[in-house]
Amino acid sequence: MNISIASGKGGTGKTTVAVNLALSVQPSVYIDCDVEEPNGHILLKPIITEQKYVMKKLPSIDFNRCSYCGKCTDICEFNAIIALKNDVLVFEMCHGCGLCSYFCPEKAIEEINKNIGEIRSGYAKSELTMFIEGELNIGEMAAAPLIKQVRKEAVPGRINFIDAPPGTSCSMVAAVKDSDYCILVTESTPFGLNDLKLAVDVIRSMGISFGVIINKYDDSFADIDKYCSDQKITILLKLPFERKIAECYSYGIPPVCKFPELKEKFRDVFYKIQSSFLMKEVLLNR
Ligand code: SF4
Ligand code: SF4
Repeated sequence: MNISIASGKGGTGKTTVAVNLALSVQPSVYIDCDVEEPNGHILLKPIITEQKYVMKKLPSIDFNRCSYCGKCTDICEFNAIIALKNDVLVFEMCHGCGLCSYFCPEKAIEEINKNIGEIRSGYAKSELTMFIEGELNIGEMAAAPLIKQVRKEAVPGRINFIDAPPGTSCSMVAAVKDSDYCILVTESTPFGLNDLKLAVDVIRSMGISFGVIINKYDDSFADIDKYCSDQKITILLKLPFERKIAECYSYGIPPVCKFPELKEKFRDVFYKIQSSFLMKEVLLNR
């Protein structure tokens, strides 16, 4: 089962939620797809047992063959290749999809490998929590190709918790795509609500079941409760701001390792997701 954890903006506590879930529900896999800034390792302190480089295919032009017809420019939906009168430029935002090379009438495009980052894997705390993270090379623009590779590391038969990049860009979409369920983490502020709405629109458009965890919950700001109630969105958990939790975080300790009652709360979140998933399966198979 693949459960992604996303948020409409950074700093909501998404990684803390993902890590706490992975440590509370076992056997599990924590997968850090926030490849531009992976930081789950700070809390999990994993032992890395495997490391591999990830390559992306990049178009390389054979100018002896190229007729400068512009077909590659027309076909590229990322505007990553521009054919000029006597030159063809390839830009960093190339996703390595291979379409330009496939459609080039002169067979003037060869795909060459370029290293874009790496994937590290191992285990955290105990072998019951596997750890996988991707890290994009500095200066590399397109995170989605690496995220897709990291997603392929999900382990069948385990609960995979996928820590998605913040925001609602194509990186977030690549990380949450094909999840069985998505947890949207937000916080009790007008900014949190605004970004939650954006994230809800994206997840709904992808047809993924989802629920919300409100971090640093403050009942004096009831707008998120009202929004979720109006939109019939399940609130899976409200985590009030507590000094002891913030202290754990600042020392790099996952709060569930210190407070068993919190572990129970995260397990309950998982059970809610599991039962809604099973219910959906039953309805689909009727
Ligand atoms: S499609 Fe091929 S031949 Fe045409 S401009 Fe691009 S590289 Fe050159
Ligand atoms: S490989 Fe795909 S993304 Fe890259 S330039 Fe060609 S068509 Fe565009």
